[in-house]
Amino acid sequence: MSYKTIVGLEIHVELATKTKAFCSCENSFGGEPNTRVCPVCMGMPGALPVLNEEVVHKAIEAATAFHMTIHPVSRFQRKNYFYPDLTKGYQITQNHEPIANDGYLEIDTEAGPKKIRIAQLQMEEDTGKSLHSEETNTTLMDYNRCGVPLIEIVSQPDMSSAEEARKFLDKLRKTLKVLGVSDVKMAEGSLRCDVNINLKNEQTGERSSIAEIKNLNSFRAVVRAIEFEEARQQKLMEAGEEEVRTTRRWDDVANETVVMRYKYTANDYRFAPEGDLGPVFVDEAMIQSVVEGMNELPDVKLERFQRDYGLSPYDAGVLTERDEIARFFEEVAAQYEDYNSLANWISGEVLRRVDTDDEEITIGLRAEDLAYLLRAIDEKKISNNAGKKVLRILFEEGGSPAEIIQREGLEQVSDTGAIEKVVVEIVAQNPESVTQWKNGKDRVLGFLVGQVMKATKGKANPQMANELLRRELEKQ
Ligand code: ZN
Ligand code: MN
Repeated sequence: MSYKTIVGLEIHVELATKTKAFCSCENSFGGEPNTRVCPVCMGMPGALPVLNEEVVHKAIEAATAFHMTIHPVSRFQRKNYFYPDLTKGYQITQNHEPIANDGYLEIDTEAGPKKIRIAQLQMEEDTGKSLHSEETNTTLMDYNRCGVPLIEIVSQPDMSSAEEARKFLDKLRKTLKVLGVSDVKMAEGSLRCDVNINLKNEQTGERSSIAEIKNLNSFRAVVRAIEFEEARQQKLMEAGEEEVRTTRRWDDVANETVVMRYKYTANDYRFAPEGDLGPVFVDEAMIQSVVEGMNELPDVKLERFQRDYGLSPYDAGVLTERDEIARFFEEVAAQYEDYNSLANWISGEVLRRVDTDDEEITIGLRAEDLAYLLRAIDEKKISNNAGKKVLRILFEEGGSPAEIIQREGLEQVSDTGAIEKVVVEIVAQNPESVTQWKNGKDRVLGFLVGQVMKATKGKANPQMANELLRRELEKQ
């Protein structure tokens, strides 16, 4: 029997706005609990919400990046439920009339590019946080996060493996980061992912019950939870066992998904129109002005790097993978024109020394220094190997390349007279090599070049040594 995996994702992203969604409380992470709250975000009677325009702009940016249809009119509803972290007793959301529908993100798979459709994008607000203490067996509430703006993005169930889900999430995260829509820090909860997964028996068409895994907060957890569910659900199907739909959570320690609740009936949130907020109107002029101010999207940048710099798709991919790397490349490229050589140096020698696992990366190198170094190599002032050495010193100790080249005595001797003198000496010292050369053994040339390099402590320009040696041997 073969089984097809069906995965859909629901992603909540906290928006990087200055203030909260419906009040003027500061929107930021951490800090002293309950210091960024007001009657509006605490849901006090009589307090009225006012929509923050920045939230709408960020939602438009995301919807544009995901190729979605943005609606001229959208509306907020109240989603009623009781939970200690939700003082109002309802969440303001857009389940029924969202700001955008029907888009996609394209991911690369082994079989080529694949479009993962996005069904919906809605604006809503975050809840507070419950802080459980095992020691004192108490729960304390921090409401600073109440009313922090979110967009919820719902994909179609178009992913068929953990790897595809990871790629989708990665692309989405990168896109929102580049746009500045969110800081997308999963560890701080700025990006949270729910996974919906079930299997389909490809022979019989029979499907397992959908499991919904809530609030995954790392790529690794998403991948492992999907892989765990694939195995668990396949076992159930093979045994012919049926299961009601479950809501689960991922237990990182036990390495398994755990049932939180069984879904015998659909949740009834008693959605009602949010009467305190009017409809959200978005016209063409607003969309246009938002789009004009948008940062370049990853796919667009990837294409531009290939087109404008003549780079291979692979090199362009490496350089545009991180914003900081792309920015550095372009800064050097403004001063140095062999873009392919530059791409090789950055993806090799430079990135080898940069910690790309960090969320924020810094390239500890000045663009003008790398440009200077590469020109020095092109002009044969220093050898390629000497260039690598200078780069290493620049990273480890700093300084200027010109000064390092001088101090380390790395300048190549390209003075014909000086090299010629050494060449004549070397040929005179190696009569047997001359005989071999005359007998057609070209290989000895390499040996003799080596001797010249050794005699000049590696400073002779090797091409020049080669050329002069050849001439000297012809004379013998
Ligand atoms: Zn507030
Ligand atoms: Mn939601």
